This record gives sequence, structure tokens and C-alpha cells, in this order.
Amino acid sequence: MTETEHEHSLYWQPRRAAALIALRQFVPRAGGAYVRERNFDYGPRKRDHVSRLSPWVRVRAISEPEIIRAVCAAHAPTSAEKFIQEVCWRTYWKGWLELRPSVWTDYVQAVRAAKAYWADHPGYVAAINGRTDSPAFNVFLRELLETGYLHNHARMWFASIWIFTLRLPWSLGADLFLRHLLDGDAAVNTLSWRWVAGLQTRGKHYVARADNIAKYTGGRLGEGEALLESPQPMTEEAAMPAPVSLTPLGDCPVAGKAGLIISEDDMSAGRWLPERHQPTAVAGIFPLWAYQEAGAAAPVIAFRQALLKEAVGDGEVWDNRAALAAAVRDWVEGNALDCVIMAEPPVGFGQCVIEPLADILRDLSIPFCRERHPWDDALFPHATHGFFRFRKRLPKIIQPWL
Ligand SMILES: Cc1cc2nc3c(=O)[nH]c(=O)nc-3n(C[C@H](O)[C@H](O)[C@H](O)COP(=O)(O)OP(=O)(O)OC[C@H]3O[C@@H](n4cnc5c(N)ncnc54)[C@H](O)[C@@H]3O)c2cc1C
Repeated sequence: MTETEHEHSLYWQPRRAAALIALRQFVPRAGGAYVRERNFDYGPRKRDHVSRLSPWVRVRAISEPEIIRAVCAAHAPTSAEKFIQEVCWRTYWKGWLELRPSVWTDYVQAVRAAKAYWADHPGYVAAINGRTDSPAFNVFLRELLETGYLHNHARMWFASIWIFTLRLPWSLGADLFLRHLLDGDAAVNTLSWRWVAGLQTRGKHYVARADNIAKYTGGRLGEGEALLESPQPMTEEAAMPAPVSLTPLGDCPVAGKAGLIISEDDMSAGRWLPERHQPTAVAGIFPLWAYQEAGAAAPVIAFRQALLKEAVGDGEVWDNRAALAAAVRDWVEGNALDCVIMAEPPVGFGQCVIEPLADILRDLSIPFCRERHPWDDALFPHATHGFFRFRKRLPKIIQPWL
């Protein structure tokens, strides 16, 4: 894809080169222009005022340090502060959930229960088919299904209308996003929906208003909306769980031949783990079975599978749960491996590969070493309280990457 084709494309190419082009094109706009324009949603054909990097960042086809370094090379840190904060907001949500994994398991259970009850409910069926009384909501739904992306402001309006005007369970809205967004992420998505509902920052919710939609869509939408504009925030009985410590990962032996497994959660692992272990074989793992069970949209699966294939190069990619044990054994034995290394997947569906891999490797008496990306390792422990406390510490914490 050429630079011009990228600029005008509605879609995301599953290649790292496309992410690097997107970053290069966006960098000049990451300063004051981003601050002024980032809240406007002019529709899918005019998006160059935001980076559109999220689908690639989701799987680390491009990493947070790479983005921040490129932006800081072109702007004074104060001028790019807002953009850098947004990139780190994502890390904050991921760290927050890592320290409170029960919020994710509660969400998964809530989706299961809500689906059983709401599957045929006319309000839910109308919403997921874009046939509600809110014209803006219907437009966003179609855009989500067609492109796998929504502007941040559209996500906020959509979630707010879903929860307060349509009175549907927030967990089902989060599930719809997670299944269709190319950047769908367990932490960012779940916690953003909770934030809109008023569950994340207790008593503070986000209310979509017709005049705000009209203003920030440049008059494209907002007319004919009958939104509930003074709802109460949602509440829940349970107290917010206290943060736990990050799962300790233990020391990895460095002797002998190491095999690297790359997962869909960190496709940059082939760039940072080899610094320490120099693997002699590389393979990929994609939990297709979990994606299918969750009802993920085909374009999301295809996008991530293609990026993983690219990251793994000549290596094989395992996506069949039933054939996993035999494939791993053949790979370990065929390459005479002494240990296997992998980037630790964060809280979310991606973790479902750990248990089977650990069992298979234990049977083969092969050490299975997992390491956390240095960025996560440095930033996650600071996500104990609110974002503002985290943000204050950022300049110092991210200094080593600049
Ligand atoms: C209800 C709801 C659900 C969301 N679900 C997801 C999700 O599943 N995955 C996801 O990556 N983002 C999610 N977001 C956050 C945000 O909407 C997207 O990250 C952003 O729109 C991506 O577009 P961009 O890359 O052009 O962002 P830019 O504005 O260019 O920002 C650069 C990067 O910063 C990060 N970022 C930007 N805004 C936010 C934000 N509000 N919160 C956290 N990180 C941010 C993203 O990694 C993004 O790529 C959600 C927001 C809401 C309100």
C-alpha cells in the first residue's frame, strides 16, 4: 500500500509496514492540531486528525515506545503531551485491569448471563441491527460493523445511548464492541464502558447530548435525537476490588536452545525477547477456538491472524486447540529445544493459551518462561489509583524510552 492509498483508506492493512506509514503520516499532527481536533468525528472518510493506530497497537504490531519516540522526535514533549497521555491512557487501563483481574472475570460472567436473557429481546435485537429510534446510534452501528472502528467520541456517544436511552445492559454493549472492533481490547473496552456507565469513577457517568453530537460531527448527526439527557449513573453493590500485585513471572534459564512463541497479544515479542534469549525457532499461537466461542467478527479474526503470520515469518501458527499438543511436541523435538519463551499475555481472552501450553511443555519437561514487556513491567504497577495520579508520574516513568 502506498502512502496516498493509506491516507484515503477506510480500512486497516494487516501489515506492520502499514502501521509504520500511518505513524509517519500522523506524527506532524500529534501536537497542537491533535489537541484542537481530536474530539471531532467527521465520519469515516476524514479521520486524519487522529492516528488510527489502535488496531495495530492492540496486538503490538507497533509498540507504545515506538510511537512515543517518533512523536517526541518531532515535537516538544509539552506540545505532544496530550497525544502521549492518550497512548498511556491505554496502558493505564491495561495496568488497572491487570491489578484487578476479577473485574474481567465478573464481566465475562455478566455477558454470559445477559446473553441468555436478552438474546431475543426486541430492544437488543433492534440495537444490534441498527434499527433504533436514534439516527446517530444507527449510523455508528453500521460504521462499526463495516469498518471495525469508531472514533473515540462516537464510542462514548454509542455507549451512553446504549446504556441510558436504550436501557440495555452495558456488558452486552461492551461485548458487541469487543467482537467487532479491530482494536477490541479486554481492558480498554471493559473499563471504558464501565466509565461511561458511571461504575468506574463512581457517580461520574458520560451522558450523550444531541447538541454535543451535532457540534462534534460538524452537523452530520445529532438531529432528530430524543436522548435521555439527565440519567442517573449506574451503581453496583460490590466494592471496587483492591489492587493485587502483578503476577510474578520467575527467572528464565538462558542456557541451551530457546524457542519463541508469539501470541496475538504481543507481536513485537520477536523484537524484544530475542535481545535476552536469542531463540533458534519461532512459532505463533492464535486462540481461534476462543475467538469463535466469543462470536468475534470474521474481519477481526482475519486481521489478527494475518498480522501474527507476518510476525512469525517462516514459523508455523497454531490455531487448533485439539491439535495443539502434537504440534508443540513436534516443534520442540524437531528443533531440539531446551526451553520455550513467550511474552506474558495481559488479562483477557489471550490468557487462555497459557494453561494448555504450560501443561504440554510440563509433559515434555521443557521449561516455559514468560516475560512481561518492559513497558508493561514499568507502567502497570502505577495503575493502583486514578488516571490523574498515574499521569503525574508519567514523565518520569517513560523517560527511559524517549
Ligand atoms: C466505550 C469505549 C470503548 C473503547 N474500546 C476500546 C478498545 O476496545 N480498544 C482500544 O484500543 N480503545 C478503545 N477505546 C478507546 C479509544 O476510543 C480508542 O483507543 C481510539 O478511538 C483509537 O483511535 P486512534 O488510534 O485514532 O486514537 P488516537 O486519538 O490517535 O490515540 C492514540 C492512541 O492512544 C490510545 N487511546 C486514545 N484514546 C484513548 C482512550 N480514550 N482510552 C484509552 N486509550 C486511548 C489508543 O491506543 C490510540 O491508538 C474505547 C473507548 C470507549 C469510549
